[in-house]
Amino acid sequence: MYQSFIGLEVHIHLLTKSKVFCGCRSAFGDEPNTNVCPVCMGYPGVLPSLNIEAMRMGCTVARALNCRIPEQTWFERKQYFYPDMPKNYQISQFASPLGQEGYVDLTGKHSKKRVRIKECHLEEDAGKMIHTGTVSLLDYNRAGVSLLEIVTEPDMESGEEAELFIQQLRRTVRYLGVCDGNMEEGSLRADANVSINLPGRGLGRKVEIKNLNSSRFVRLGLNYEIKRQGELLDQGKELIQETRLWNENRDQTEPMRTKENAQDYRYFPEPDLPVFVPDAAFRASVEATLVELPGARVERLEQDYGLGREQAELICDEKALADYFEAALAAAGAQGFDTRDGAGRIANWLLTDIKHILSREGIALSRIGTFRLSPQRLAMLVVMVARGQVSMKNGKQALERVIAEDKDPAALIREAGWEQLGDPVQIGKAVEAVYAAEAAVFDQIRAARAEGNQKRQRTLTAYLVGRVLEQTGGRADPKIAAAQIESLTSSGARQRV
Ligand code: ADP
Ligand code: MG
Ligand code: ZN
Repeated sequence: MYQSFIGLEVHIHLLTKSKVFCGCRSAFGDEPNTNVCPVCMGYPGVLPSLNIEAMRMGCTVARALNCRIPEQTWFERKQYFYPDMPKNYQISQFASPLGQEGYVDLTGKHSKKRVRIKECHLEEDAGKMIHTGTVSLLDYNRAGVSLLEIVTEPDMESGEEAELFIQQLRRTVRYLGVCDGNMEEGSLRADANVSINLPGRGLGRKVEIKNLNSSRFVRLGLNYEIKRQGELLDQGKELIQETRLWNENRDQTEPMRTKENAQDYRYFPEPDLPVFVPDAAFRASVEATLVELPGARVERLEQDYGLGREQAELICDEKALADYFEAALAAAGAQGFDTRDGAGRIANWLLTDIKHILSREGIALSRIGTFRLSPQRLAMLVVMVARGQVSMKNGKQALERVIAEDKDPAALIREAGWEQLGDPVQIGKAVEAVYAAEAAVFDQIRAARAEGNQKRQRTLTAYLVGRVLEQTGGRADPKIAAAQIESLTSSGARQRV
C-alpha cells in the first residue's frame, strides 16, 4: 500500500462589483467583450489601481481560514503568453500573499482532520476561450476579474477528503458573502495535486489535475490518479511530474504537459502598484465582516437545540435558511414555547413542507429571506399545532392559505373554523354518532381486546378516530377521541347506547 498526498489550489471569484485593477463591471453572463477597458486589455501606458473591496474580501476569506495577514502585502507580475491574457502577464501575488499559514478543520461523518492552508493570494482572472470547430473565440469580460487563490499544504489523503474540503470551503465563502460558489459558472474551480509514495518516504512526485469544475470531479480525478500511480509503481515504473486533465466523458485523467515544458514565470514586483499596508482600521473592517461559519453553527445547533447532526447540516447548508430557522425559533420562544421542542418541530416543517413549497414556487433556499411567509408566522403555526390548538392536518392546510392569502395564522384558523376541538362533551357527541353508525366495529374491538390482539385493536380504533374526525370537520382532538373510544370498549362498559 502507498501513502497518498493531496494539495488543492482553489480559485474563487470575489463578488466585487468591478474588476480587481480597473473600473470595469464584473459579472457573469454579459454580452461578450462589453466589460473591457484599456487597463484590462493591457494597452501600453495604462495604470492599474487596486480595488480595495477585493483586498478586503480576500482578507476576510484568509481570516476565516485562520490565516495571518502580513504587515505588508504586494503584487508581482507572472509572465506568460496565452491569447486569453492580453497583457501577456498576470498580476498576482508571489512573495507576500495576503493570507499565510492558516488551517481548516474538515468535519467528516466519522473523522475530524486539520488541513493546513499554505496561503491565499489575490490575482486577476484571464479571459475565456471558446473553441468552436476550426476557430477559437475570446471573451475578455472575465479578464481582470478579482480572483482569490487558496493553496493548501498536501495534507489530504483521498478524493473524498478533497471533495469535503471543497464543499466546506464553498459553504464558507457563501456564508461570508464574498463568492457565490457557483462551480458550473466557474466562480469556484480547483486544481488538484496528488502524489503517492511508500509509507514513511514523504511526498512523491506530484501530478496536477487542472481546472476541475465540480467537487465530484475532484474526488473522481484524484481517486483515479491514486489508483493509476499505484499501478505504475507496482509494475516498477517511474512516475513523471506532469499536468493532466480530467476527461469527464471517459472518466479518466489524460496528460496535458510534462515538467520538461513547465513554464518559468519570471516573477518580479509589479512596478505600477504600491505595497499595500493593512493598517488597524483595515484589519478591523475585515474582522467586522467575519460571521459565524457553517461548521461552528452546525455544532451550536446540535448542542444548544438538540438537533441531529444531519438536520443541523441541512439547516446550515445555506446561511439564509439557518437565519430563518433561528428567527422562527426566537419567535416561538417569545410565545413561551420550549426551545428544544420548538427547534425539532421548526426544523421538520422547514425541511419538508417549506422546502417543498419553495421549490414549487421556484425560490432557492438561499433566498428564503425574501419568502412571503415570515419566520414569525411559521413559528405561530408550529406552536399552535404543538399546543393542540389546531390539528396537524389543518395546520398544514393553514400553512398554504397563510402563504396564499398573506394572513395571520391564528386569525385564518379561527375564520376557517379549524380550531381544534378539545371539549370532551362536544367530542363525546361525535363519538356517540359514530357509535350508532359503527356499532359492529366497537364489538370487534371488544373481541380483539378479549383475545389480546393489540394490533387489531389499534387498527380498528384508528379507523374510528378517523370517523370522529370526519364528523367534526377534522377538528376533534384525536387523543381525546381515542380515549373515549377506549373507555367505551373496555370491559364493564355499556354494550349498547
Ligand atoms: P508549484 O510550485 O508546482 O505550484 P506548490 O509548492 O506551489 O507547487 O504547490 C502547489 C500545490 O501542490 C499545493 O497545494 C501543494 O500542497 C501541492 N503539492 C506540492 N507538492 C506536492 C506533492 N509532492 N504531492 C502532492 N501535492 C503536492
Ligand atoms: Mg503553485
Ligand atoms: Zn477594465
